[in-house]
Amino acid sequence: MDALHNQVFFPSSLPELFSAWTRFPDAVPFAGGAELLRNQGKQVLSLPRNILALEQLDELHRITRTERYLEIGAMVKISEIIRLGKTVPEALTQSLLNIASPQMRNLITIGGNICNPFRRLDAAAPLVALDARFELRTADEIRWVSASRFSTLPGPLALNPQELLTRIRIPLEQWQYSLYKKFSDQYPVDESGGGAVFMARIQKNILTDLRMVFAGQIVLRDKNSETVLVGKQLPLDRRDAVHFSELWKTFLSAVEIPGFMLRAKLFNFVESCILSLSD
Ligand SMILES: Cc1cc2nc3c(=O)[nH]c(=O)nc-3n(C[C@H](O)[C@H](O)[C@H](O)COP(=O)(O)OP(=O)(O)OC[C@H]3O[C@@H](n4cnc5c(N)ncnc54)[C@H](O)[C@@H]3O)c2cc1C
Repeated sequence: MDALHNQVFFPSSLPELFSAWTRFPDAVPFAGGAELLRNQGKQVLSLPRNILALEQLDELHRITRTERYLEIGAMVKISEIIRLGKTVPEALTQSLLNIASPQMRNLITIGGNICNPFRRLDAAAPLVALDARFELRTADEIRWVSASRFSTLPGPLALNPQELLTRIRIPLEQWQYSLYKKFSDQYPVDESGGGAVFMARIQKNILTDLRMVFAGQIVLRDKNSETVLVGKQLPLDRRDAVHFSELWKTFLSAVEIPGFMLRAKLFNFVESCILSLSD
């Protein structure tokens, strides 16, 4: 970091961006800047030596909707997504409303929230639960990665060097029940912080799909327990609900979880969600 020799590039097309990135492989994408400028109280900012400002890349600001998908460019601000209203799956909107303050939501981009190198943030759990996919681009290649593969933790993001997140594609399926729970209001969150989402699809009083995902310092999803209740009539028989909770208890006891409170908080969340669907 050398404040006197910073270079900031403002590419207006992806070929321009990748040409600068090839010349300066250490360059860092700059989206809303909330993370890159965090805790910088000094007069002179400490920034990466080479910065790729993403602001002028029109295609990263695009939002499109088809019958089956909502596609959001990586530079779309959190507040813009919230303003889309009912087009956005409820679980995602709930999680985005939990991000910082309205002022910060006007600054933070969905791409920056997803690509934060230190931990999975509020948008992560619903994007995994909704089976979202991310478009990643390098100078030579475009690839699509599922949110769950992108966000696998512990470990780094599935971003390669000089690779940019450009688009987020979210399936527009109906989830009749969605609940997002944030476990800490602080940022950066402590070890037991993070967010969990519970979603249920119900057709003619039958539970046809169920998702429960946690994201924080780790990402947790137990596909095994999700399937056991599919096809059951609502309200759920209490024994089925208890069985689901027990499966989660076993799952949680088998994984290493940071923060001594997190296991208990997660279990309480799972139990209260599933009991709310039972008689
Ligand atoms: C005061 C404060 C409160 C916060 N509260 C919350 C909260 O409640 N919930 C929450 O979820 N988050 C919260 N955050 C965190 C915020 O969501 C992250 O800091 C997020 O990374 C910022 O997004 P940004 O658009 O400003 O990205 P930037 O700061 O510009 O970038 C963040 C990182 O992502 C990389 N990046 C950005 N865009 C791309 C892209 N398209 N492709 C590849 N890499 C990219 C950058 O290189 C950088 O490493 C808070 C942050 C602050 C400062």
